[in-house]
Formats: sequence, structure tokens, C-alpha cells
Amino acid sequence: MSRAKPSAIMAVAEKAKALKAAGRDIVSFSIGVPNFLPGEHVYAAAREALTRDSGQYGSNRGPDALLDAFIKHLEDGGLKGYGRKNIATGIGAKHMLYSLAEALLDPGDTIAFPVPYWTTYVDIADIVGAQKRLLPCPASQNYKLTPDQLDAALPGVKVFLFNNPSNPTGMVYGKDEIAALADVLVKHPDVWIVCDDIYNRMVFDGVGYHNFVNARPELRERTIQVDSLSKTYGMPGWRVGFIAGPESVAQAMVTLNSNHITNVPEVVNAAAVAALSGPQTITERKCAEFQAKRDEVLAAVLSIPGVVCPRPQGAFYVFPDISVAFGKSHCGVKIGNDVELCNALLEVKGVACVPGSAFGDPNALRISYTCPTEQLADGLKRFVEFFAELT
Ligand code: PMP
Repeated sequence: MSRAKPSAIMAVAEKAKALKAAGRDIVSFSIGVPNFLPGEHVYAAAREALTRDSGQYGSNRGPDALLDAFIKHLEDGGLKGYGRKNIATGIGAKHMLYSLAEALLDPGDTIAFPVPYWTTYVDIADIVGAQKRLLPCPASQNYKLTPDQLDAALPGVKVFLFNNPSNPTGMVYGKDEIAALADVLVKHPDVWIVCDDIYNRMVFDGVGYHNFVNARPELRERTIQVDSLSKTYGMPGWRVGFIAGPESVAQAMVTLNSNHITNVPEVVNAAAVAALSGPQTITERKCAEFQAKRDEVLAAVLSIPGVVCPRPQGAFYVFPDISVAFGKSHCGVKIGNDVELCNALLEVKGVACVPGSAFGDPNALRISYTCPTEQLADGLKRFVEFFAELT
């Protein structure tokens, strides 16, 4: 436990909350939660489930209706050919990722993943006692892993963890990029591939969502897809996650469930079935809205001289390289690094962003743009002002 740290993202969110409670006008670009609720059909399904509640333990894998709804969801997203035995459910993608680490990694085994990474990857690896092999993907390479880099990194690796679209960068790998990485993965047959693709329904500019399994079908036998209701349906607090993968791995998840959680609650399962198989209009509308907000955020950050930002094409994050500000001062306060910059930005301008070092890249910061549209322009104005006032 001494290796695991509390979430840096939550720390910023807490500080912003405290300032707000003290009467400050705060715009939060910090926490990565969607600002929408699921449709009424989801609540109706949950209410209906309450009326027939058995009060009993449920299936460790998940009820058939949920497995089938998720299989259909995968198919709609282009991932065909999974059966119930390939699926397991759990308490959010976070839980599934943790269980996968427990199932696939022994202490001392190596897990490789690109940097910037989602913060929790580091903690999960540390908690299970795995060695981390970090693959740096700075802004200068568009925050994307190259095939050569992957090829050089994989010898001796037990698990390769990939996240597309990316939190924190919002980058999305195109079809050719995925195919080139898949070709490399084929050359390393001892590596398990975990794809945390929970933002797969939040992709812009018509790039589409692509994956290794479709690029090279032979990878299916050692690739595990991780998905979740949180971002797609505005249901982070409902806590439902899934994996689709080889039967042996899905069975391992079921065995872990039987020891950790037993089952996802029955009422939540019913709501999840409704979300997955009901109308997808809210998700589609939100995706279009996020794309428009991405344009707004990107235009603002790129208007700042010296700030570099590869164009994100998914999720709801922008990850500008703001290192141009280091060594400057704001109202007499020296800005030495990303943490000092985020602190000053929050204290002086009331804008909360997460320092890039939380994601392994101290040259950047993360803007999560799920706040209400009317707050976005105000927050961006203050953000740009802050940089203009640096001396
Ligand atoms: N993976 C990534 C990349 C995420 O951004 C998040 C949530 N911030 C998760 C997993 C966890 O999602 P869930 O709510 O399903 O646990």
C-alpha cells in the first residue's frame, strides 16, 4: 500500500470544491466525468427491476440479458464474434482493469504502457507488484506510440496496456496506425494485450474507432477489450464495466468476482441492459457536442504563443504542452513547473486543471471540457488571460 498514491485528479477537484465553498467563482476543467444523465428508459428499467427484486446473490459473470446486450453493443461498434463465455462484468472499467492485472500479472512481471497514461494504471501496477515499462509519447510525436517504439519495448513484457481514445490526451489512433501497431503485436506472441477503449463511442472528425482485433484477427486469442457505461451513457456512478476476451480470461474475471464482489447489483444490471440496448441518441448528441467543445478549447489553447497541442479527436480532454510558461512569473509568483502553474491558475483565475505530471508528462496540463457550455467560454477566457499576464 505504501506504493499506491491517492488520485492527483481528485486532489485538484477537492481544492476547487473548497474554493467554491468559500465563495470563489470556480470553473472546473479538472474531473473527467460526463455532464449528462442517461435517458428516462434507464431509470424506468431500474424502477421496474426494484418491483421484482429477488434480494438474492446474482451471477458472478452477469445475467444473460446483460451479457447479450453487451455483445450487441460490441457488434454495433464493429467487434463481432464474441459469445457469453467471452464476457465478464464488474464494478466499472477500473475494477475490470484491476482484476485483469491480478489475473495476468505475478509480482515482478512487466506491464508496458504509453505515457501520458491514465493515472490509475500506475497504481494498479504498483498494487499488484508489477514492474512498469513506460513508453514516452511526448507532444512532439503527437502523444502516439510508434510501431518501432512498441517493437523495441515488448521483449520481456507480460501485458501491454493500450488506451484509445486516450485519457488524458484525447488522441485517437487511425485505422492505419492501429494496423501498424497490430503488425508489431503479432510478432510478440507472449504478450497479453489489454485495450482500455472505454471512450470508443466518443470519436470525432469521422476517424472512427479501430482496434487490434479487427486489424489482425489472430490477436483475438490474447486481447482483452475493456468497456464501461461511465462515459458512453453518462453513468459513472452506476459502476458497470465489462471485458470481452478469451474464455480463459473471462473465466478468471468470473472467479475473481466470486471472491471480490459476487455480482453487480440486480437493479444496476437492469439499468445497464436498458442503456446498452435502448436508443443511442443521447450518446450521439453528446459526442457531437464534445466535438464542438473540442474545437473551442483547441482554438483557445493554440491562440497562446508557444503552447503546443496535438489535435485530439476523441474523449473529452485537451492536453496542451504549456512548458513555454516555465521560468516565468504570474503577479510575482514564479511558475517553475506544471503543478505550480495549475496552482496559480486555480488561485488567481479560479480555473481548475490537472497537472500533466499526474499523467506522466510534466510539460502539459489536462483540460477536461465536460463543464456546461456557458462556463466553457468563461473558463477559456481566464485561461488565456493567465498566460498573457505571465512575465
Ligand atoms: N479508463 C480510463 C482511460 C478512464 O478515463 C476511466 C475513468 N476516468 C476509467 C478507465 C474508469 O472508468 P469506470 O468509471 O468505468 O471505472
